[in-house]
Amino acid sequence: MLEVASLGSGSSGNATLVRSKTTTLLIDCGFTLKESLKRMASLGVAPSDLTAVLISHEHSDHVKGIGPLSRKFGVPIHLTHGTYRRLRDNRLLAYELFHAHAPFTLGDIEVDPFPTPHDAAESCQFVLQHNGVSFVVATDMGVCTPYILKKLAGVNGVLIECNYDDEMLRNGPYPPSLQHRIRGNFGHLGNVQAGPVLRAIDHPRLNRILLGHLSEKNNTEDCARNTVLASLPQAADRVTVLKQHTASPWFAITGESMPIENNASHTEALLADGGQK
Ligand SMILES: [Zn+2]
Ligand SMILES: [Zn+2]
Repeated sequence: MLEVASLGSGSSGNATLVRSKTTTLLIDCGFTLKESLKRMASLGVAPSDLTAVLISHEHSDHVKGIGPLSRKFGVPIHLTHGTYRRLRDNRLLAYELFHAHAPFTLGDIEVDPFPTPHDAAESCQFVLQHNGVSFVVATDMGVCTPYILKKLAGVNGVLIECNYDDEMLRNGPYPPSLQHRIRGNFGHLGNVQAGPVLRAIDHPRLNRILLGHLSEKNNTEDCARNTVLASLPQAADRVTVLKQHTASPWFAITGESMPIENNASHTEALLADGGQK
């Protein structure tokens, strides 16, 4: 079993805890150190419990607290070379570089990173696996590529990006250039893209679907949930929308992964569906 909890998710800060019995990983640290520690404490986690921190990319909503966390507690920070180059000013105390195509192990959790199309130096996300149970973070990506779909296929839990509602973005406060960036292939997944992706990867042992990285200006919890469930009505009792300003409870991720081949037909359906932009 894996357990997952969000310290908060949205355009102004992201951090996710993933743990087995003996290993606790923090994925991104997009809140101030003080706020991160407060939210971790509410979930019963102290900084000394962290085995390592994984960084997906250098945008401030993912790294705000990373320098202080590193310097104060010396937790090893794992990141790609491209992300490290952009973060050098953060003076990380202990860090390890990984290759975004090369799996590695932290404690007893296998980390399988994959590159994401996003407007950052070398952004990636992660499949985390322990004893055959897997969880994937899939946020900060302009489009779900066939390669990413393969990484997502068969997982038991997913945190997927629902950044914006189409109409709210169009009618919202953002200038056209920024709207264009968000919608672009190196921007963010919207509600309407997330549904078909989930439909493509749904299987009987996908037992937890977390919707995250919502924009506070261009989305609402109801919009995200309703749009996704329009594509995947059978998932109503498995879907939770993560919040920006409060930590989630712990979610248990159980079950066995399914072989990728089993999902091939769904993947083809997704691509035929126009789920890709
Ligand atoms: Zn982000
Ligand atoms: Zn980003």
